[in-house]
Amino acid sequence: MDPEFFDAGQPCAVLTTQPLDRALDYLAPEGGCWLGAYVEVPLGPRRVMGVVWGPAAGDYDRAKLRAIHRVLDVPPMREELRTFIIKAADYTLTPLPAMLRLATRAPGLTDPPATRRILRLGQGEPDRMTDARQRVLEVIHEYGGLAFTQRELADMAGVTTSVIKGLVKQGALTEEDAPKDLPFPHLDPAHKGKDLTEDQAAAAASLAKGINSGLYGTTLLKGVTGSGKTEVYLEAVAACLRQGRQALVLLPEIALTSEFLTRLEARFGGRPAEWHSGVTMTDRRRTWKMVAEGGAQVVVGARSALFLPFRDLGLIVVDEEHDTSYKQEDGVLYNARDMAVLRASLCSARVVLASATPSLESWANAEAGKYERLNLTSRFGASVMPEMRAIDMRAETLAASTWISPTLRKAVEERMSLGQQSLLFLNRRGYAPVTICRACGHQVACPHCDARMVEHRFLKRLMCHQCGETIPMPEACPSCHVEGKLAPVGPGVERLAEEAAKVFPEARIAVLSSDLFGSARALKEEIKRIADGAADIVIGTQMVAKGHNFPLLTLVGVIDADLGLQGSDLRAAERTFQLMRQVAGRAGRTELKGLALLQTFQPEHPVLRAILSGDEEGFWQAEAAERQAAGVPPYGRMVGIIVSSEELNDAFDVANQLTRHSEVLREAGAQVYGPAPAPIARIRGRHRVRLLVKSPKGVFLQKVIALWVRNVRVRNTTRLTIDIDPQNF
Ligand code: ADP
Ligand code: ZN
Repeated sequence: MDPEFFDAGQPCAVLTTQPLDRALDYLAPEGGCWLGAYVEVPLGPRRVMGVVWGPAAGDYDRAKLRAIHRVLDVPPMREELRTFIIKAADYTLTPLPAMLRLATRAPGLTDPPATRRILRLGQGEPDRMTDARQRVLEVIHEYGGLAFTQRELADMAGVTTSVIKGLVKQGALTEEDAPKDLPFPHLDPAHKGKDLTEDQAAAAASLAKGINSGLYGTTLLKGVTGSGKTEVYLEAVAACLRQGRQALVLLPEIALTSEFLTRLEARFGGRPAEWHSGVTMTDRRRTWKMVAEGGAQVVVGARSALFLPFRDLGLIVVDEEHDTSYKQEDGVLYNARDMAVLRASLCSARVVLASATPSLESWANAEAGKYERLNLTSRFGASVMPEMRAIDMRAETLAASTWISPTLRKAVEERMSLGQQSLLFLNRRGYAPVTICRACGHQVACPHCDARMVEHRFLKRLMCHQCGETIPMPEACPSCHVEGKLAPVGPGVERLAEEAAKVFPEARIAVLSSDLFGSARALKEEIKRIADGAADIVIGTQMVAKGHNFPLLTLVGVIDADLGLQGSDLRAAERTFQLMRQVAGRAGRTELKGLALLQTFQPEHPVLRAILSGDEEGFWQAEAAERQAAGVPPYGRMVGIIVSSEELNDAFDVANQLTRHSEVLREAGAQVYGPAPAPIARIRGRHRVRLLVKSPKGVFLQKVIALWVRNVRVRNTTRLTIDIDPQNF
């Protein structure tokens, strides 16, 4: 058994967030320290944060060991979280320090005296950039702009406080009072529940039974939009609170959080904690501490909330579990849905995966009996699922560069005359996806990415949706330099809004696209305005498919139902099926009956037929059979290896080396495909080459891949990213 406590002067291993390949040995400080303690340790001239990870390695030289500088005044990291970090790192083949970093993203982490002053990055720039100043700014950047006290920051950067004061004077850092960390309001499970329908009550009881067992288990809670999934899992949260344990609710989109917090407040009589990138540093600090100390009973958050130091986590809800944004595609690549299941299994918690259109992965796990399955089959109250119909675009007459068919137009006009709302859905941001030169045929592309520049007329700029680069709309073609010949091709939501304004001159039109709102608050206000009836026609991208409730909305028109089915991605069918059903679910959420019209050039396509008929089981069975035949997830394992470099040749060199040394994979029963340009072949100036590894389910791919990539020398100009369970294949 590892010791639980290290006496002063006893050697112990500390895992830091620095990119080192192992934990470092230190001597326990005066007063000793607990296993799992958050500590600050000296590393070269700096002080860095770490966690006491275990006994020191056997071969240390005691005389050379330095002492832990100090122990932070927060509860030690529990074994459950340490194990989670290790297993998550193993699963995603992420270095342990990078994984630990996800769990230590808390501002300060030290106890504040009542009038603590904290520092954060300011707008000003120092006139003289010394090494010391540079180090301070680096530390702040490294911790994602978190707030620190002067002492903390000076220690961490290995500088004197006068350096910090200098930076404050120049405005490069700003100083403010740190608020006290207070517990969150008490949440009362008996506060004010709704009377559940028979269906809902049965589902809630089943979830409560699981929670009361105190054992791990995952439930797929499936039910059409509006069937009351949220009401049901709120009762699971209540059951968890009755057990005195904490609950975490993950949402796919920050924009949904505040509406949801209000709903939770109504149910439990208090506002829970929230955790996502839009939360201020001081609030994050408070939340982190309260989660650790038990002063926060429920956390509503984004995927990163999975790494919070819960004192006793009893339930994780993953709402809209099929949502692709649960997969983190930058930095540490992990899927929050899968990690939720992992964490829950380590702390004897329950998982509820809620969706109207589950991922094939979860569907398959339920089919295989690994997950419990609960179905809510009807919508709450008088509302019923909208009727779905195709508009066969081959039979419609449209003028050039218009996209609203006469049939759809008539349907929208009808709704307007009834005082009801319509949603026109097009999953494309901006004005037009392509900008072409009518003189030479050139299509304007991003200088850094393998992607077209998309016109955003609102901003009067062209924007790359991969890297975010924008340039002013050019007068002349960047290729042939002829002026006045650049023209938009195809529709984006802004262009569709322009057409709608012409077709429906009387209508009040609102456009909902993530890039049209400066802040989450502005977006929220617009959503509220629409819900209150301030628009006749809503034009929106994917964003509107998620969770918003517009009571007056009775018609959904999908402008291009074929859009998601182009390309060779094996997940295209699943995605289109989910998205179309989600969007359609926006219509008729009250007693007003809904209708969804899908404009398509291929109404006979099997995926569209399944969407229209609503034959979900049939669709999943067919999809499952196809994936099974291809040996791809969830019936086989897959890993993407992306080699990126500024030089295409370097990237291919490394990728080719990998292919040449792949015996270890073949011996294990895995196959390698590629190298080939990655789905996005260039991002931010870096070329990306991808290898795909595929194996049967039984192979422990992580181990084999770790062995495999170890044999390859990666130059420091190239980067190797391992993507376990890639989203695109
Ligand atoms: P879902 O999460 O499946 O989309 P919700 O839980 O959001 O469904 O329910 C849809 C709407 O119906 C919400 O406004 C909700 O408050 C309401 N509702 C659902 N069940 C009940 C119930 N048993 N009593 C009162 N209102 C309910
Ligand atoms: Zn770009």
